[in-house]
Amino acid sequence: MADVTSPEYDAIVIGAGFSGLAMLHHLREIGQRTIVLEAGGGVGGTWYWNTYPGARTDSEFYYYSFSFSEEVRNEWVWTERYPSQPEVLRYLEFLASRLGLNKDIRLNTRVERAEYDESTRKWTVTTDSGDTLTATYLISGMGVLAEPNLPDIPGASSFAGELYHTARWPRDREVDLRGKRVGLIGLGASGVQIVPVVAEVAGELVVFQRTPNYVVASSNYTVDDEWMARVRKEYPENFKRAREHIFAVPFESPRHGAKELDPGERERIFEEKWREGGFHFMLETFSDLATDEESNHHASEFIRKKIRETVKDPETAELLCPKDYPFNGKRPPGGHGYYEAYNRDNVRLVDIREHGIDEITPDGVRVGGVHHELDVLIFATGFDAMTGTLTAIDIVGRDGVVLRDKWSDGLKTNLGLGVHGFPNFFMILGPQTPYANLPVAIQEGVQWIAGALKYARDNGITELESTKDAEEEWAAQVAEAGSATIMAKGVDANAWFIGANVPGKPIEFNVYMGGADDYFKRCDDVAAGGYRQFLGSDR
Ligand code: NAP
Repeated sequence: MADVTSPEYDAIVIGAGFSGLAMLHHLREIGQRTIVLEAGGGVGGTWYWNTYPGARTDSEFYYYSFSFSEEVRNEWVWTERYPSQPEVLRYLEFLASRLGLNKDIRLNTRVERAEYDESTRKWTVTTDSGDTLTATYLISGMGVLAEPNLPDIPGASSFAGELYHTARWPRDREVDLRGKRVGLIGLGASGVQIVPVVAEVAGELVVFQRTPNYVVASSNYTVDDEWMARVRKEYPENFKRAREHIFAVPFESPRHGAKELDPGERERIFEEKWREGGFHFMLETFSDLATDEESNHHASEFIRKKIRETVKDPETAELLCPKDYPFNGKRPPGGHGYYEAYNRDNVRLVDIREHGIDEITPDGVRVGGVHHELDVLIFATGFDAMTGTLTAIDIVGRDGVVLRDKWSDGLKTNLGLGVHGFPNFFMILGPQTPYANLPVAIQEGVQWIAGALKYARDNGITELESTKDAEEEWAAQVAEAGSATIMAKGVDANAWFIGANVPGKPIEFNVYMGGADDYFKRCDDVAAGGYRQFLGSDR
């Protein structure tokens, strides 16, 4: 086992969230001396940092978890269909402790730089305390939606009240919002979860909306013993089904397109899946909602109808109806009483689409000349997704090339796993990996990486490095797959998956839209072919 004071390792993994924990477990299985470096004060990654009110999964527990550990599967008990943030964090803490992972995790350690030395064929990692550690392999498990996006709104630093970002919510104290005037900027999955929960306690909640979202109802309920027992029994089968699904969930894929059916039947199916909730509406209604504009229009209309039926004030309802982009143009959030919250007297929606926010003042936010007085301001403004964590630090490959510079004019990766010019560097959920349910994609990713490292060891290969050709081909494939989907309209909706949510970021698909099932098969093929596309140096 690794000694945390020793500076020499086979592998250094950055991040102790879902990715880093699973990677450590799988690297141990193949005898790699590994250390995980984690910036936070505990394990959990996303689920450690995002402690904002209302935080919970948009995915159901039975596929938002790992299948690889029989002990964890059999012993862990989920209590809610959509687990809350504290419950997911407890699950990851349980996983870490049950698999004995903690002794190889160094907390409160932020990686600032990692540099490859071509002569020694080792990576040297420098942390924020100035320590250096060396390893053959460097593996990022830093997360895809982890680097907070703080928009540059005039006057933001002048705000004298309490200012929070959802992804950096205080952990050392309870934030008391009771009776306060709270402003919220941002209505993606984070903001949408905050609205109904904060509305319950705040004196007033002022929601500043730029782009309305298609929020799909989620019906949460308790997981009873019988359901838990069934899920335990079905875990391996569920995982297999998830692996064969475009979004890596164990769902049935619908057989019909929405426009093929008559309006009554179409409505019945939409209604049934709306009641089932969440991703079931997105993925189990019709086969062509992500590819056909007419079919997509039916889904978009259905949701607009639901908004108008739910929100009593017609003007507010119209403001909440997305009209400038189609359903799936953004990642649809799951709602838990989201639209209903706007029927409360203490919730006000302020449209900032046309003119934006004039300024943030010491005691509020001014929009169109109207000043909204606030005690608390919450930024739920998302993340520099997919690439943000990787470009925030210096990852230096061959010839002194820094990863952020390599990607400055376009993403290049081989299956989102490796990068030409960066030998023995791997990414779990790197950019250009699939748009999918993440724990399944993570489990697949870490097992693939562990398999590649084992293959290298067994075959005397000292450098695994993506070939240039393979990453050129993959970049073309990612662009082609994305442009064939409705998600290409994400440009009009500032969607993170196309890089449009961060000003100045190149517009391109940051994820593979060709299906998780297709992607896993490609990864399997590379492994079966002896990792040829990753033998850039040792050819
Ligand atoms: P997001 O979807 O990127 O939403 C960010 C929000 O901030 C948008 O409403 C955006 O408005 C707004 N915004 C950004 N800059 C702004 C500015 N300068 N002025 C006004 N508004 C601004 O971020 P997120 O809600 O954190 O979610 C990101 C992703 O994380 C989700 O899609 C999901 O994949 C994941 N997530 C999942 C869960 C879950 O599963 N339970 C929960 C949270 C997050 P515009 O739309 O107009 O740009």
